[in-house]
Amino acid sequence: MSERLVSPKTHDGEGGGDIAAEATTRPQLLDQFLGQERARENLGVFIKAASSRGEAMDHLLLVGPAGLGKTTLARIVANELGVTLHATSGPVLQKGGDLAALLTNLNRRDVLFIDEIHRLSPSVEELLYPAMEDRQLDLILGSGPGARSVRIDLAPFTLIAATTRTGLLTTPLRDRFGIPIRLNFYDEAELCRIVARGANILDIKITPEGVSEIARRARGTPRIADRLLRRVRDFALVGGRPEIDASTADEALQRMEVDQRGLDEMDRNYLYALACTFNGGPVGIETLAAMLNEPRDTVEDIIEPYLMQQGFVLRTSRGRMVSRGAYEYLRINPPASLASEMSGRTPTLDFDADDDEANE
Ligand code: ADP
Repeated sequence: MSERLVSPKTHDGEGGGDIAAEATTRPQLLDQFLGQERARENLGVFIKAASSRGEAMDHLLLVGPAGLGKTTLARIVANELGVTLHATSGPVLQKGGDLAALLTNLNRRDVLFIDEIHRLSPSVEELLYPAMEDRQLDLILGSGPGARSVRIDLAPFTLIAATTRTGLLTTPLRDRFGIPIRLNFYDEAELCRIVARGANILDIKITPEGVSEIARRARGTPRIADRLLRRVRDFALVGGRPEIDASTADEALQRMEVDQRGLDEMDRNYLYALACTFNGGPVGIETLAAMLNEPRDTVEDIIEPYLMQQGFVLRTSRGRMVSRGAYEYLRINPPASLASEMSGRTPTLDFDADDDEANE
């Protein structure tokens, strides 16, 4: 999975990997963040208001599939507010003490960014509630009869948290964010602007047709667009092409097995499993993940969101089902028993649909 070119996750491989590479093209200011107009405009207002009042901005929850710009936005907010960003992630914050150390180090109006907040342990999450609400940290010192509790006042700060699906958060945590913002997959025009900007920064010669070929096959995800651009550049360089046009981009993407819709082998395996092995579904996520030999989280967070957005997969209360479009894409006939039923199915965009399928 970590080798996958169209994975929206970073793989920090040899030589500094994606993280170092991304740093050159990562937008630093709100104006450089392309697409997601509504989110950008709203954030601009909240940043301005907090700055003019000289206060910490309200806590911000960023929700959306991997690679859409949550970390980038957190950095931008800190830059625009002119404060320091302290970044960590849910799985890293194992103990209450880890969070306490971070919180007590914050200066007035600083931003604390917690990625994958849904993976916080319950004890750390409980410590976060009074910190978010009353800027207070309740710590228990010592243990047994000698234990005592101390309350520490914290500097006013902004918590920015990122998660892939709001449904993964507990209600008390979700309710403590004053600003919830959802990021959606980017459309082709937005991705064209992002690819063109990246090419400009990296000094890559590319025609408008080359830009749209990459944008169209980037799964609605800026991180993938950025990665495809770099790999296409490699193919162009080695192939002696001074400029990337549509056919150079297409050839390179084909060699990387990224098809016309931006899907790769992993996506096709998923669709084949659902369409053929499970006769179109419904099938529970655990069964599907076991069949694909992938962890459930990977299937839900990395493979499925884009397939759902494309209308290939439907998440129902009975399990996952494929759409007629998926059979068309795979160029196979739907089973006769499903053909008529499927004509009534409509794609869903709800990433938070009920996961508790009855068949699990
Ligand atoms: P997430 O935290 O949601 O997984 P990131 O914020 O790490 O995603 O974004 C991944 C990469 O995509 C970044 O390195 C950045 O360069 C690029 N990117 C994301 N959103 C945008 C955008 N709106 N405009 C330009 N580049 C973007």
